[in-house]
Amino acid sequence: MTTQTIDQRYSDITDQQLAMRLTTEDLEEYAGLNPFERLTCHVHRRWLHDCVSSPAHVNMISGHRWCRRCEMTANVSIDHVSGAVNVMCPHCQCSPNSLATRQIIRACKASLAAAHDATA
Ligand SMILES: [Zn+2]
Ligand SMILES: [Zn+2]
Repeated sequence: MTTQTIDQRYSDITDQQLAMRLTTEDLEEYAGLNPFERLTCHVHRRWLHDCVSSPAHVNMISGHRWCRRCEMTANVSIDHVSGAVNVMCPHCQCSPNSLATRQIIRACKASLAAAHDATA
């Protein structure tokens, strides 16, 4: 990974760690990585925890940020200090119990950790 160069698409990103991670994960995704396992977002070109609250991260089919019971968008709360991540439906006040919810929480925690390592 040390010899890899940052993709041109991300060359204007000042956070080198982020730009490198985006490049690596793009390649991994072409090689078969599940896009929902990424710690970076190629749409917003940010760490996942920085843009997961965007409507682009809602997926009714996979259940990502989606409460099936209420048919409503669930919110993601991220505590940058404690590193806690939670997915909550504003209607039933429940965390949608799904693989997708666990996946969001896992990926956001990992992206928080990766971004923190980058600035440390
Ligand atoms: Zn995004
Ligand atoms: Zn709900």
